[in-house]
Amino acid sequence: MTNLTDLTFHELEALIVSLGEPPYRARQVWQWLWQKGCRDISEMTDVSKALRAKLSEAAVIAWPEVVRVRESGDGTVKFLLGLADGEAVECVLIPEKDHYTACLSTQVGCAMGCGFCATGMLGFRRNMTPGEMLGQVLVARRYLLERGETLLLRNLVFMGMGEPLLNYENLIKTLEALHHPQGLDFSSRRITISTAGVKRHLLELGKTGLCSLAVSLHAPTQATRERIMPGAARLPLAELMELLRQYPLKPRERLTFEYLLLEGVNDSDADARELVRLLSRVKAKVNLIVYNATPGLPFRQPRPERVFAFQDILKEKGLTATIRKSKGADIAAACGQLRAEADCQGEGGA
Ligand code: SAH
Ligand code: SF4
Repeated sequence: MTNLTDLTFHELEALIVSLGEPPYRARQVWQWLWQKGCRDISEMTDVSKALRAKLSEAAVIAWPEVVRVRESGDGTVKFLLGLADGEAVECVLIPEKDHYTACLSTQVGCAMGCGFCATGMLGFRRNMTPGEMLGQVLVARRYLLERGETLLLRNLVFMGMGEPLLNYENLIKTLEALHHPQGLDFSSRRITISTAGVKRHLLELGKTGLCSLAVSLHAPTQATRERIMPGAARLPLAELMELLRQYPLKPRERLTFEYLLLEGVNDSDADARELVRLLSRVKAKVNLIVYNATPGLPFRQPRPERVFAFQDILKEKGLTATIRKSKGADIAAACGQLRAEADCQGEGGA
């Protein structure tokens, strides 16, 4: 049966027309789905009884099931979400000064196989549907509402489980629904897609103008990238940088380059200088991420003074370089620690 949250606005219109109703009724249903967070077609009180009956026969509203919620000492909340076929993903809600940010998953597992990433260790299981990706926003928003939280969920980062560009068609439908002014109404400046670098669809995504882009670079040379990100490195670094030079940016917009610091692997002064050279021909800012240890993986966190020294070299050369504050590490909700499957099998998980 159709899940109404999987449909784009036009698909919903088409469904309503196929049920013998005029297309303009789609707007009402859409508002119930996305503005009011309605989960039961029969509760759409200003929609005609006849349409509600026909819709109920043709479709359902399915949200991911909240299997578990864990809250970190720093206010970060991690949701373990069960999907209709028994798979599970994680989604994280992060408190900021004046709003919340949600970190969303796009796939169950990931095929890219980055050596430092808990999701990568799972391998790829399947793509998430638009309704499943958007369901994370619905669940997070409902959670804040029920707690009487005054800060709004305003920023979305696609940095949870999975590689967004390998689920492109569903990603675009998701972005379109997120932007719809009669729906969730997120601005493109408040949505960031993070990719490890996939050739197919990269520039196409840029042309949509639907989001900002963050690139998980993590290494200044092809050799180091091959070692730590074998899947992503199939697109050679030189070619990735050439594509990024062509990436359409709005005035004053810059590409974000995520750089995960792994002790003794990519965190030397020479690496920092190489990174400056590599980024000299793109409009870039760098977000340094300190590795979050995942049991069973052969990497270590660099010491704080190494992280600052690395940052200083970038800044001296005029690159904007921030250090990402790690949140939710005590509940394994920090970057790269998401691996719902292991979590499902008992407390503790990652
Ligand atoms: N697949 C996409 C988006 C999900 S990963 C991508 O790779 O960009 C989101 C971010 O978390 C990426 O920058 C990723 O490299 C980072 N990450 C993965 N494992 C990590 C770890 N153990 N510690 C810190 N960050 C990690
Ligand atoms: Fe996949 Fe991103 Fe993890 Fe790499 S870092 S395995 S691309 S989720």
